[in-house]
Amino acid sequence: MLANMMDQPLLISSLIAHAARYHGQTEIVSRTLDEGIHRYNWAEAEQRSKRLAKALIALGVQPGQRVGTMAWNTYRHLEAYYAIAGMGAVTHTINPRLFPEQIEYIVNHAENQFIFCDTSFADLVAGLLPSFTTVKGIIFMCDRASMPSVVPDALCFEELIAGQDANYTWPEFDERNAAALCYTSGTTGNPKGALYSHRSTLLHTFAAIAPDGLGISASETVLPVVPMFHVNAWGLPYACAMVGAKMVMPGRDLDGASLHELLDGEQVSLTAAVPAVWLGLLNHLRSTGATLEHMKRVVIGGSACPRAMMETFQDQYGVEVIHAWGMTEMSPLGTVNTPKFQFKDLVGKAKVDLQQSAGRPMYGVDMMIVDENDQEMPWDGESVGELMVRGPWVIDAYFNTDPQPAHRIPGWFGTGDVCAIDPDGYIWITDRIKDVIKSGGEWISSIDLENIAVGHPNVAEAAVIGIYHPRWDERPLLVVVKQPGEDVTKDEMLAWFEGKIAKWWTPDDVAFVDDLPHTATGKLSKLQLRERFKDYSLPTSG
Ligand code: AMP
Repeated sequence: MLANMMDQPLLISSLIAHAARYHGQTEIVSRTLDEGIHRYNWAEAEQRSKRLAKALIALGVQPGQRVGTMAWNTYRHLEAYYAIAGMGAVTHTINPRLFPEQIEYIVNHAENQFIFCDTSFADLVAGLLPSFTTVKGIIFMCDRASMPSVVPDALCFEELIAGQDANYTWPEFDERNAAALCYTSGTTGNPKGALYSHRSTLLHTFAAIAPDGLGISASETVLPVVPMFHVNAWGLPYACAMVGAKMVMPGRDLDGASLHELLDGEQVSLTAAVPAVWLGLLNHLRSTGATLEHMKRVVIGGSACPRAMMETFQDQYGVEVIHAWGMTEMSPLGTVNTPKFQFKDLVGKAKVDLQQSAGRPMYGVDMMIVDENDQEMPWDGESVGELMVRGPWVIDAYFNTDPQPAHRIPGWFGTGDVCAIDPDGYIWITDRIKDVIKSGGEWISSIDLENIAVGHPNVAEAAVIGIYHPRWDERPLLVVVKQPGEDVTKDEMLAWFEGKIAKWWTPDDVAFVDDLPHTATGKLSKLQLRERFKDYSLPTSG
């Protein structure tokens, strides 16, 4: 028997409609390329999103078609998000840091009709335009005065908005329709698209705002540093609308000084980004003596959060770290590290020990670990296997990909991450499957070694890769970037590991470099690093 409750679809437009109606005066502050700091509020954001939706309809965009965005986090990008998905089309966020060939591939694969483009990517887009097969126009996200000349017939965002009124009712349709598309950064092969539905996004948003998710309320000021082109800024543009939080959009400048100015000036209480970004902020704070007066919490994910970073945020600046794990294929939130009941009073070292875990699943995510024969492994905190996940915001199939990579275990998505799960259900990620170092048939965790290395005061960044070894197959090589102006020797570095790990995990050698390669989403690129060191011979190779 069906129930008698209203069958109202879960649509993305309902988020901004709610924010505008019930939190209309709450501010959205953006650092823009053309106007400096821009301020307005949720009510105005919805009005402009509606006008933009009408402009897209006038341009002939049909429901279900993909419209690209190549833009920083600003109010205009937010409007594009809501206008495109709200009118029934699909917001395809394009990561401008991908290689140009990858951008060409995903724009054509997604069959984008139009591309919203920040002026800083004008040359990039102009160069690629002849190879785009379906794009009917580029919309520069600026006013007429700031229009770049490199794409002569480009459309102007502000003119599109000026050409429409806000007399528009968000349409109702099936909540399972596609709303947004994001391609994985694809370290090998072509990027693959994760196509989110309105329903999956709304359910993910409910989980994200909950106290044991990212815990976002109406009284929060949220600064998403994580780009809107990286898994929808981890869902924050939706979460902030759902609760009516104040948003601060950092635009293009993500260096420590620029971020600090906004964090302080706008009294930001919650922010989120990958560890690499926080290195920049912490360096800035260290060198200027500045503090974080208003910030209460920082979400760190996308790569393992080093212990040293966690301790610096918490002990020196009084900012609570929320360590989270997720993937493009998971919308992205999978696990968040918040204490379970029995851990609620943990303090000091015991608390930080637990925070090293990437967390435990929120309601909506189910998980298990399996061995190479796909047999489920115990949650003993020791057994290490591939993490499998399932849930209503977990990918079932990649967008328009034939053949689909098969689900190894029906109904479960294989994450490619290797971890242990402890008896309390917290996951302890040790590696990506392809980054695991196999030494004499045993696995060495590169993430554990990297975390210890960056705990050394003179180390800015560190990566560990497996190098061929005639006796052990592979042995770890530690690659280190020193803190500016500081020194550390190989022997000092290796001595740093003593007592912190099993002796046989100790790297066989240390290489000092000026920089480490990163992927388009700010993670260490082990692929490029292995390429750099492919002819490296370890001193232990004999
Ligand atoms: P992406 O799809 O670009 O968001 O990348 C997802 C991948 O980032 C995951 O599969 C993990 O390998 C890695 N990742 C995300 N969060 C964490 C974390 N907290 N610790 C370790 N690795 C992480």
